[in-house]
Amino acid sequence: MLLKYLSDTHIDVKLSLFKSLHLWLPLSFSIYGLFKILNSGQTPSLFIALINIFLVYFTVCLGHCLGLHRMLIHESFKSPQFMKPIFLFLSSLSGIGGPKTWIRVHALRDHWQNQNKAPRALTYDNSLFHDFFINLHCKIIPKNKEYLKRLPKGILLDRWVIFFEALWAPLNVLFFLSLWLLLNLEIAIHVIAFRITISIIGHWLVGYIVHRWGYKTYDIEEASEEGRNSLVLGWFTFGEAYHNNHHKYPDSASMGLQKFEFDLSYVSLLILKKLRLATDIKISCDHHTKQKKTP
Ligand SMILES: [Zn+2]
Ligand SMILES: [Zn+2]
Repeated sequence: MLLKYLSDTHIDVKLSLFKSLHLWLPLSFSIYGLFKILNSGQTPSLFIALINIFLVYFTVCLGHCLGLHRMLIHESFKSPQFMKPIFLFLSSLSGIGGPKTWIRVHALRDHWQNQNKAPRALTYDNSLFHDFFINLHCKIIPKNKEYLKRLPKGILLDRWVIFFEALWAPLNVLFFLSLWLLLNLEIAIHVIAFRITISIIGHWLVGYIVHRWGYKTYDIEEASEEGRNSLVLGWFTFGEAYHNNHHKYPDSASMGLQKFEFDLSYVSLLILKKLRLATDIKISCDHHTKQKKTP
């Protein structure tokens, strides 16, 4: 169904059953799991919590933030060819969404947010509830392809991007069903549904927060959205919440620029470099390790 009040000459906004299911399926299982925990009076297992932290690090930090966002979308570093399917496999298991979809959404947002006026659905002028509705229940369809110009050449035709776009959802369903059949429903909910629900809602919520609140290091001329930096969220989002830095230097592999802006994705990248799994790392001229020019 077309939402006319959000559509304009540049984009159409439609209700999406797939996007709604993507949120509400794991969320419903999570609510059921929470209800069972509260009713049983048992304390949640520390072991499962540790497994989830480990999985979030590998899927969201290494897969989504580092592999998909910083390497594929922004080309801020290079990796051997065999690392691409590994990054995309991990990113797919985060449950946040398919790589091709995210590459397009990211390009569309960047395209409009760097202009002085953007369609309403692509700004952060909406209320939290309204933004939750738009981002997690609607599909934004651009009416022309100009926004794709900013993407690395051929990225949408990459065979691994296409492969994991088709497989990310079935993979997560398969893992959920396997844990359910081989162990039990509670473990499947705790390891898959809880983690995916938190990753989806966290990803959206952090995106909303870092466009509205936090400190700003840079003014970005002509941009309708400049982003904000958040020290607290920066730690928990693997560096992605230094968002004003990212708007200023999108190709920097490190989003944390000051010494106190801890960026776990970048630290992980330096480890990959030591293991010879990352090369040609680009970082902003404002990064604290760069030599400052004397006046
Ligand atoms: Zn932004
Ligand atoms: Zn980006």
